[in-house]
Amino acid sequence: MLAAISIAVLCGCLKPAKPSAKGVNSAAVAATGESHTKAENCKMAYCNEQYRQSPINLEPTDSLSRHALVFQYVPSHEIIENLGHTVKLHYKQGNRLSFDGIDYDLVQFHFHTPSEHRLQGTPFPMELHLVHQSTDSAYLVVGVLFVEGRENEVLSRFIRDIPRAEGGRKTSKNVVDLNSALPKNKRFYLYAGSLTTPPFTEGVRWIVFKEPTECAAAQINAFREIEGFNARALQALNQRIVEVVESPQK
Ligand SMILES: [Zn+2]
Repeated sequence: MLAAISIAVLCGCLKPAKPSAKGVNSAAVAATGESHTKAENCKMAYCNEQYRQSPINLEPTDSLSRHALVFQYVPSHEIIENLGHTVKLHYKQGNRLSFDGIDYDLVQFHFHTPSEHRLQGTPFPMELHLVHQSTDSAYLVVGVLFVEGRENEVLSRFIRDIPRAEGGRKTSKNVVDLNSALPKNKRFYLYAGSLTTPPFTEGVRWIVFKEPTECAAAQINAFREIEGFNARALQALNQRIVEVVESPQK
């Protein structure tokens, strides 16, 4: 049975014209992101320092924290949805992670092109969001940043099954093992933020891995062609503390 929680609002209210998949380089992405930042900040008026919004720029810290993070993902078939502004996969119940002793069920995952979070000011061509919820409806989202490199095995398991038509849903033919999508080095940034699409609900626990994962340029282009630019502008850190967490698996 599929998780009944519908969180389509998590992604993609912002749907500007889709850029060409070809010829998009990091400088162009950065430039587009900057203009988007200014426009959206004005529109959304989230400049007030009381807000704890996402995404943010992530900076290294001198100290490392420790938290218990254990992934309990099992390989399975997914239902893939082409929402036009994003590609979303619905995950079956029974896949979860445990964070500081609290279980969170994985309800769906989706992609942003380019990344929403930045590391030391640097955007990445793509970001995966693994959206979890606890039994008391608290959100925990895991962000995985992608860099261009070798073909990514996990993406190649379902990328050809993405419905071409907007609104299309299809069950992937292959088993998808999300454990392989996670970087080997599990050091991560931890902070309190929000959903990155309306209603921008706060109280979301964010875990963003420091080490990016590789995927082929053609794979990034496949998502970009469907999604276009679907990254929310950077938000102010305000009074928040971002932790850098070490050795979360032990
Ligand atoms: Zn997202």
